[in-house]
Amino acid sequence: MSPDWDFDKEEGTQIRSLIHDLVVTESPSGDASGIHRVMERLLEDLLPIPDIHVDWHQVAGFSLLEVSRGSGGALLLGHADTVWPQGTLKTMPWYEDQDGKIFGPGILDMKAGLAIAVFALRGVAPTTPFRLLVTPDEEIGSALSRETIEKYAKESPLALILESGMPKGGLKIARAGVGDFTASVTGIESHAGLDPEKGASAIREMAQQVMWLETLEHRLLGTTINPGVVSGGTRSNVVAGNAIIGIDVRVQTAGEMHRIENTLAHPPTFDSRTQVHYEGGFNRPPMESTPASHEWFRWAQKAWSDHTTWPLEGLRVGGASDGNFTARLTPTLDGLGAVGVGPHARHEQIDWQYIAPRVGLVRDLVERAGGPL
Ligand SMILES: [Zn+2]
Repeated sequence: MSPDWDFDKEEGTQIRSLIHDLVVTESPSGDASGIHRVMERLLEDLLPIPDIHVDWHQVAGFSLLEVSRGSGGALLLGHADTVWPQGTLKTMPWYEDQDGKIFGPGILDMKAGLAIAVFALRGVAPTTPFRLLVTPDEEIGSALSRETIEKYAKESPLALILESGMPKGGLKIARAGVGDFTASVTGIESHAGLDPEKGASAIREMAQQVMWLETLEHRLLGTTINPGVVSGGTRSNVVAGNAIIGIDVRVQTAGEMHRIENTLAHPPTFDSRTQVHYEGGFNRPPMESTPASHEWFRWAQKAWSDHTTWPLEGLRVGGASDGNFTARLTPTLDGLGAVGVGPHARHEQIDWQYIAPRVGLVRDLVERAGGPL
């Protein structure tokens, strides 16, 4: 690795202890005080940066931390919440192995990413503008943060999302839009033995709806539909009067998102005596790659290969992040956080060797976005 992307000894120790403190401060979504404590710890290491402006936003009892300097700079976006409940540390403690892997709840998604942002900003030139926004609710859909995220995305030339990177440091250049739908099917109950013909089976209709949903998929465009949960009926000797399907939809383009929304608004019924109703929608639109975001990606790719021995890939992924909100408003690069494996899994871990180059990459992107280099 080139020396200007490497830590001096002190810096390495400081960022490691920041990551440690963030991980041992548990902050599940919904835990306002744990989340606030994570933000306070971040702020401690941000305060040495000259000329910053600190703003605490409060939304429905939750904090959003905004730290900025000047205007017109890059927007760095991270979340302080994790999927891990309080007490997880007892069975999944902070642990470092001999190979430079560090384990702990939320370390990859995305506490190490937050630390990367902090140390990148400590390294940018003192005149470079930027805005860092740390939100409390990404893991549960960002309902409290979306408005603020979109407002600042519009004012920024570039959005940098500190979600975890791909193997060898690859970035996420496109993300699926994720839809969550429920189909309710109403039929007519009757005795299965005495007068089955008087009944209209909601379960039979549900089965046909499942087959129909499959025909709406478009593998070439990356549209997938998963009826992942079904339930219905009361007893085996009763023709079922109701049934429910829980459906996960992933799309790669806004066009596909609208096609699915419109189609599910007017579903066919295969048995005209039943009623079928789809509810739900897309909580995040797809994050599409644009010519402008691609240009930024190419720039990052070159910087990464100039400074490290790894190639930088740009990948499309199925999961969503707050990058799905910013990508429609400004060029967005996602997956700039730590590199590791097992987000949301018990073996969640980061690979220490990528921390310094990530700090270097984010720092250089912030400087590039904030003015001529
Ligand atoms: Zn995340």
